[in-house]
Amino acid sequence: MSPDSSKYDVVIVGSGLGGLVTAVTLAKEGMRVCVLEKNNQFGGNLQTFARHKKLFDTGVHYIGGLGKGQNLYQYFSYLGIMQQLDVERMPTVFDRITFGDQEAVFPIAQGYSAFVDYLLPYFPKERKALQQYVEDLDYVCHAFPLYYVEDGDGYKTEVLHRSVKAYFADLTADEKLRAVLVGNNFLYAGEDDKTPFYVHALALNSYLLGAYRCPRGGSQISKALIKELRRLGGVAFKREEVRSVTMEAGKIAQVGTSSGKQFVADLFVMNIDPKRALKLVGREYFRKPFFDRVQQLPVTTSACSVHVVLKPNSIPYEASNLYYHDSIASVWGAARYSLEDWPSMFMLSMTADPQNPGYADTLTLLSYMHFEEVAPWGDTHNTVVKPGSRGEEYSCFKADRAHLLLEKATKFIPGLGEATMHVHVSTPLSYRDYIGMHEGNLYGHVKDVEDPLKTFISPKTKVENLFLTGHGIYMHGILGVTVGAIATCAEIVGKPTLLEKIKAAQDND
Ligand SMILES: Cc1cc2nc3c(=O)[nH]c(=O)nc-3n(C[C@H](O)[C@H](O)[C@H](O)COP(=O)(O)OP(=O)(O)OC[C@H]3O[C@@H](n4cnc5c(N)ncnc54)[C@H](O)[C@@H]3O)c2cc1C
Repeated sequence: MSPDSSKYDVVIVGSGLGGLVTAVTLAKEGMRVCVLEKNNQFGGNLQTFARHKKLFDTGVHYIGGLGKGQNLYQYFSYLGIMQQLDVERMPTVFDRITFGDQEAVFPIAQGYSAFVDYLLPYFPKERKALQQYVEDLDYVCHAFPLYYVEDGDGYKTEVLHRSVKAYFADLTADEKLRAVLVGNNFLYAGEDDKTPFYVHALALNSYLLGAYRCPRGGSQISKALIKELRRLGGVAFKREEVRSVTMEAGKIAQVGTSSGKQFVADLFVMNIDPKRALKLVGREYFRKPFFDRVQQLPVTTSACSVHVVLKPNSIPYEASNLYYHDSIASVWGAARYSLEDWPSMFMLSMTADPQNPGYADTLTLLSYMHFEEVAPWGDTHNTVVKPGSRGEEYSCFKADRAHLLLEKATKFIPGLGEATMHVHVSTPLSYRDYIGMHEGNLYGHVKDVEDPLKTFISPKTKVENLFLTGHGIYMHGILGVTVGAIATCAEIVGKPTLLEKIKAAQDND
């Protein structure tokens, strides 16, 4: 094997958002950074793909907290990418929630007071509950100081032990309102009694602060981060899958990649599935209970996405997302659907056609899909780097699922059938092969209110020079992963100094 000629201060395995934020942060601290990515495109879930000359996002449909002075805006300013991004504020009503057993379509608005005002006409007796809800979101998010770019320990244990369902049961007796408030729970793969309320709060609050879209696709974030990394002297290589780790005296000495190269560094940060990261290093280098616990942590379910290229001038563009559930009762267990009910929910988002103002050129439907559904093709692999065929039966399976989802969505988008030009379907296998997460899971492991500490993984490990980052470790989402990466970097360079610099970047903006 030929060694890479350079020795780096830090090698980062995986170029997902967490890896890239870590890379730029450490490069800003003067470290010589190298990022290794197995795919043909950097960015992990930030990747975009084109079909029939239309751009589709894989894992970024909208982003919270990007308003001037808001949390993600502050982090992206510090990282030097905020001014390079082409982002668009979504309309005041950024999400709409609807149910098969209700007539109304309920608006979810950005801005705490708009949020309350828009829902009040549907729930005139619930002003107190709605106001309490936004106050609670803000309160709970302050338990995680880095979320608001603050230092301190927060008040973690106090907010960890309440489930989403228990919280809403206390908030209001109105079952319809409870269902509306968790109607976009696809954002965190919420499970009624299991998901802690803090997960709901961290995922939702940033959108209520400010909801934004990337009209040119989420990959502009990874492109901007790579550009910044290179400007700072760092390097990033595609098509370099890390397959081996060499240990010396209990520390990682180097990692070996699919191309046969070895990369040597003082520190290593893994931005990959933590189950895989620990296995690459070896069970003997960790405390056994920790290693076994991580391997056994249940993961969030996966998804099926149906990407549709629309005929020009056929479907009016709607800028807000639509979340559908079969009933106000089914919303609570949507992530645990049974086959005969599929799809009991979907999320629908559109892109505006620049050529034909007022019309959409693509739409995407997302619904949950368990890995078991695609298990018959589980030993196939298909990516740009490692192409493969999954066979005719798999194509039929995908066509059948696309048909079911499109049929359900047609009720809300009249004429969708005739307007559909091309359909492209992703399943848990696509997510698994492209991202490398166990069984293509959506957002990392399940956070469980019954045993919250068991579901925490520290970014610092027993192996002195190994750190972890990404949505398998902390929170998911663009904001959650960015905050998590800053937490990882804080372990390496120290939190107070880092926070000072982040705040200073905002002041100079
Ligand atoms: C369907 C879907 C929709 C989403 N929608 C939104 C949204 O609208 N808004 C939002 O804020 N968030 C959304 N998210 C969540 C968000 O996209 C993710 O939480 C975030 O991008 C994950 O970043 P990460 O750092 O964990 O890296 P990941 O995206 O998990 O990337 C990991 C990277 O590591 C690479 N890798 C893996 N193994 C190796 C190896 N051995 N060697 C080298 N490289 C390796 C992978 O190829 C990949 O590039 C969505 C996610 C999904 C799945």
